[in-house]
Amino acid sequence: MAKPKPKPSLERFLPHREGTDALSDRVRLLLVRTLYTQPTSLAIGAANGAVSSFAAAILSGERLIYILAAVLTVIAAARVGLALYLPAHSVARDARKLESAYEVGAFAYSAVLGLIAAASMMLELSAAIQLLMVANTLGYGIGICARNAGRPVIALGQLLLVVAPIMIACLMLGGIAMFLLAANMLLLLPAMSSITLNVFRVLRDSIAEAERSQELARRMQVLARTDVVTGLANRAGLNHALVETLVELPDDGALGLFWIDLDRFKEVNDLLGHQVGDRVLAEIGRRLRASLPAGDTVARFGGDEFVICTRVADKRACERIAGLIQSEITRVIRLDHERLEMQASIGIACLPEDGQDADALMKAADLALYHAKANGKNQACFFDRAMTRDLVRRREIEAELRLALQRDELSIFFQPIVDLDSGKIRTFEALVRWFHPEKGELKPDEFIPVAEESGVIVTLGNWITAQAARAAAQWPADVTLAVNLSPLQIKASGAALGILNALRDAKLDPRRLELEVTESLFLEDSPVVRGFVEELSAAGVQFALDDFGTGYSSLAYIHNWPFSKIKVDRSFVSGPHVGRKSDAIIRAVSQMADTLDMTIVAEGLETIEQVQAVRDAGCKLGQGFYFSRAVPDYLAAMLLAQERDTGVRSLTG
Ligand code: C2E
Ligand code: MG
Ligand code: MG
Repeated sequence: MAKPKPKPSLERFLPHREGTDALSDRVRLLLVRTLYTQPTSLAIGAANGAVSSFAAAILSGERLIYILAAVLTVIAAARVGLALYLPAHSVARDARKLESAYEVGAFAYSAVLGLIAAASMMLELSAAIQLLMVANTLGYGIGICARNAGRPVIALGQLLLVVAPIMIACLMLGGIAMFLLAANMLLLLPAMSSITLNVFRVLRDSIAEAERSQELARRMQVLARTDVVTGLANRAGLNHALVETLVELPDDGALGLFWIDLDRFKEVNDLLGHQVGDRVLAEIGRRLRASLPAGDTVARFGGDEFVICTRVADKRACERIAGLIQSEITRVIRLDHERLEMQASIGIACLPEDGQDADALMKAADLALYHAKANGKNQACFFDRAMTRDLVRRREIEAELRLALQRDELSIFFQPIVDLDSGKIRTFEALVRWFHPEKGELKPDEFIPVAEESGVIVTLGNWITAQAARAAAQWPADVTLAVNLSPLQIKASGAALGILNALRDAKLDPRRLELEVTESLFLEDSPVVRGFVEELSAAGVQFALDDFGTGYSSLAYIHNWPFSKIKVDRSFVSGPHVGRKSDAIIRAVSQMADTLDMTIVAEGLETIEQVQAVRDAGCKLGQGFYFSRAVPDYLAAMLLAQERDTGVRSLTG
């Protein structure tokens, strides 16, 4: 038969049982401390012994009693002194020293007290003096058993030393009464032993129990503050450590708080499973811990987030630490057969500049992290006061964007893309506009990223395509429509079907639609993107690569995907780096496009010089304020009508 498994119990968290049997040093110290707990009772006992014995000496005039009384007083004074000094200056390992010191004093005091009582009997002093000393001594002996029950050897040793001289005196003096008194005191020994040992056990067990529950509470606290996956501090542990760090920080001290978020960690979990995800977290936790001094706080805040708090000299030091964190995280992680490369975004807040307490610092680091992520991830961002305003605005935009659609605050404007030779409008690019009743006109650059983040982009994108298609259906058949697509929109289920439906509803030929996408879409070769592009290409929809030159600008995309157009970003035309180099790039791209049967569009043309320059470099199409800004649909229709009525004036002169 299988052995029954031992039940898991709280016992495993408890200190070893041995502690209560063979006394652990801690319990022993606590018991020994009970000897010293009431120095007043010790002082009262000492004073009583000294006064009584000196009274006996004065009343009897006996030299021996004087001498013994003097010795007793010296011992008593020394004991009181020690009782006040020693406990305050001892630690756990001094338990035995404390105990021995007490033992010597207690035994000496008891023996001398017993001797004085015995001497008063043997010297046959007056009955009153004998009564004073014997009663005093016996009372002390019994009382001390209760007081010192924490150390039974001392208590009973003292009782024995107190009664033994009196018993011997009784036996030497003889007579029934004396014998009975001696017998009485003999019986006192086992009786008091039993009582003292009982008290001792109760005392010992309750002290041990209190110790055990204290230790259990301590371990529970450690567990509650530790993250199981990484062994680092968890959120509760972090809070505790932050408070402690702040309390200990000198007035002019500086701190750096780093809030780290692993980029695309969800993919690790989704693709490789949570177990692998946990091992990645544990490895990163280990690296972070190992790369920072032991006194620094390294915590896992939950999910794929870590927080580090460290003493720093200045911002430069923070930058160095952020670099260190990045390099530890990006170092390849090997797990079984997997080889993982992680990246992280980091938000940094500094004390005192960005906040004075833990809460303010965490808020600032969180905002900085938000910005690091919004700016493209894999970077560290310092907190800046403007971030608070930005975030408030983003949150407002996010809340109002859903309503904006219903309230009809959004419109589609159209900007012409013009044939640089004939000046004819070949395409209109649909650009969304938001006329906010209070904030005025909002730029798509401001609200499109918010729409992407909040997921509204799917609804918004469908609406834009439908509206734009409806307008385009009114234009001459040789004018095409360009619509910008966000990568997130494409990844939503049924994206291709949604676009085809919008075209069907508007009765617009799919061959008249061009979808503008950016390189970021192709960073990962996803089957979803491929399916989307293939489905729409098969229906006749064209694709244009937007903002070429701003991202990775890999020519591989151009070969691998069916683009009919490449839109060269306006930074090549009107940006700060315009010159011979950008000219050469446009020229090279135009030549390549020619051989691949693609058309190059120059974006952002504002002046006639720019138009001429790009045309000379080989661009066939152009877009920009030189020709027209984005205009409402009726103006777009008017531009087309004008063009057809008047014949096309050569826009390029
Ligand atoms: P984009 O697709 O590159 O659009 C061209 C942007 O350049 C437009 O800005 C346009 O107004 C601006 N532009 C055109 N000619 C000139 C010029 O000569 N000089 C200058 N300085 N700018 C010029 P807009 O409308 O603010 O749009 C900004 C970006 O927002 C767009 O860049 C596009 O990426 C995105 N966007 C706009 N509408 C939509 C939309 O309906 N859906 C999606 N997903 N994104 C959109
Ligand atoms: Mg565009
Ligand atoms: Mg563009």
